[in-house]
Amino acid sequence: MKTLLKTLLSTGIAAGCLALSASANAKNPIVDTVFTADPAAIVHQDTVFLYTGHDEQEPSKVGFNLNEWLLFSTKDMVNWQAHGPILRATDFKWALNSAWAAHMVERDGKFYFYTSVYKEGGPKPGFAIGVAVADKPTGPFKDARGSALLTNDMTDHSPNNWDDIDPAVFIDDNGEAYMFFGNSVPKYVKLKDNMIELDGEIKVLDIPNFTEALYVHKKGNYYYLTYASGLPETIHYAMSKSIHGPWQYKGLLNEVAGNSNTNHQSIIEFKGKDYFIYHTGSMQHNSPVGIGGEFRRSVAVDKLEYNADGTLKPVIMTTKGITEPAQ
Ligand code: CA
Repeated sequence: MKTLLKTLLSTGIAAGCLALSASANAKNPIVDTVFTADPAAIVHQDTVFLYTGHDEQEPSKVGFNLNEWLLFSTKDMVNWQAHGPILRATDFKWALNSAWAAHMVERDGKFYFYTSVYKEGGPKPGFAIGVAVADKPTGPFKDARGSALLTNDMTDHSPNNWDDIDPAVFIDDNGEAYMFFGNSVPKYVKLKDNMIELDGEIKVLDIPNFTEALYVHKKGNYYYLTYASGLPETIHYAMSKSIHGPWQYKGLLNEVAGNSNTNHQSIIEFKGKDYFIYHTGSMQHNSPVGIGGEFRRSVAVDKLEYNADGTLKPVIMTTKGITEPAQ
């Protein structure tokens, strides 16, 4: 029973919803009862919903081991609640495994969850993009198509079979939706209004030293394209006056995050403040799940600050995290 309780607590599904920390315990990583990676956050009404991958690798082993996505929420960026797993990679019947980086977007009262998963078979087995849908941000989610939205054979700009990962969807002011994605070569494609079909050709973006983890957001008149560069990955960014570019490279946004080769950012504005959400490998050894690492990552949140000209100040990563509740 003790083991069962520990398991329930580790995934936060005991009693459906579990408070993780009081404001006095605000910290980074924000969750220490389970390993979390690849944050994807949205603001819905008065709540931030944060979707993450679930790193399940043992400390002595190497390689990514992610099978499901978890959900956390907060109303003040300080106190977080766990909602437990919302979807498994194998909930896409056509997928074999690998619950890699995802992205959530709301449209017309529905919540679309775009994911990277591994798909066998077809002309070119490899990582594909699926999309699940729900009526609420907490789910339940189901495969919106019954098939992959985008498969490895649809692009051949780079030879690796994970070149179509990391979907990030942005809905422009005119209602047109675009999915940015890719490893090695950054790409984007328009989506149909139904959000579950591609609409047109896949285009390549012109930004320097791209590795992966594209993310698009807009603030004022500027579009911001953030992405991971190099390995270990640092986060860089470019700005544009249009979703179609040209993208003007602006430099470093965040340094290598402690003890993690990879990174994946999510950027939100909530209750008048801006936040940079990322992951690190710096879970402390005395946490309930043990020490972090490259395959045992943890989501962290710090402030994002803009300069008067719209450029971004480099993120200052902290271990104390967000201590001032958003109101
Ligand atoms: Ca491909």
